[in-house]
Amino acid sequence: MSCIFCKIANGEISAKIIYQDERVVAFNDLSPQAPQHYLIIPRKHLATLNDLTNEDVELAGHMLCVAKQIAIDLGIAETGYRTVINCNSDGGQAVYHLHLHLLGGRQMEWPPG
Ligand code: AMP
Ligand code: ZN
Repeated sequence: MSCIFCKIANGEISAKIIYQDERVVAFNDLSPQAPQHYLIIPRKHLATLNDLTNEDVELAGHMLCVAKQIAIDLGIAETGYRTVINCNSDGGQAVYHLHLHLLGGRQMEWPPG
């Protein structure tokens, strides 16, 4: 498996991991777009959001709950933050292992680029 995020999840490639459990891993984005920028990934390889099935409903909800808890722990839950999942080419997806971006620590703009 040549997937870079699978390698982070199984420890083959190092990352600054801030949270992990049996289903997900959260780590610092290598190229942060905000003062706080983390990625939450499932350990299960799913290439894109399009690959979610009914089997993954609980996993997808868990990813969101982990993002929320990280935001609370970092002290940005009240000031606010943004979660993003880019899907495929038009969505701007670069790494084809499902990941939830958690960005905070600055004012976000809308619409996104
Ligand atoms: P996306 O465009 O949604 O696919 O985002 C991919 C993200 O993964 C980008 O924000 C990259 O900076 C980040 N990224 C790529 N490689 C690594 C890595 N080895 N460790 C941490 N983040 C990474
Ligand atoms: Zn993968």
